[in-house]
Amino acid sequence: MNDTKKTYVNLKHARTQEQIDVMQQIEKDGVCPFCMEHFLKYHPKPILDENENWVATENMSPYEGSVHHFLFVCKRHFTMPTDMTDEEKASLFDLINRMIRKNNILGGSILIRFGDMRFTGGSVDHFHAHLIIGDTNDEKRESLKVKVGYKKP
Ligand SMILES: [Zn+2]
Repeated sequence: MNDTKKTYVNLKHARTQEQIDVMQQIEKDGVCPFCMEHFLKYHPKPILDENENWVATENMSPYEGSVHHFLFVCKRHFTMPTDMTDEEKASLFDLINRMIRKNNILGGSILIRFGDMRFTGGSVDHFHAHLIIGDTNDEKRESLKVKVGYKKP
């Protein structure tokens, strides 16, 4: 294909030692860890739900302080929202909404990083969405910290 080995993970964006260990193995294996034929080999959390296009699971390293941190991983490999089919767009929200109802979620955040990981702080180059639920601010709690990119100089 080409002379440079394609890498599907960005070690610079790993947050925990567990992630670093798994990502080093993924780099060695030269595979996409979120493609379904490899997914269960590297991902230590169970699949919680799925539909024709997506699987729902927990993040292996949930954001510190989060109540829930779910991931929705597409069963097809692509990296840009511009590559999504209409069916994938609709069925993503079907599955997100199923998880919201199942877990009685009253408020949360949906996060999608996409494309070139140098711009995003993302660590896996395969389209996926995060559903992140924190606690309330009733007791003046610290906010969850999420990286979505880098400041220009
Ligand atoms: Zn993939």
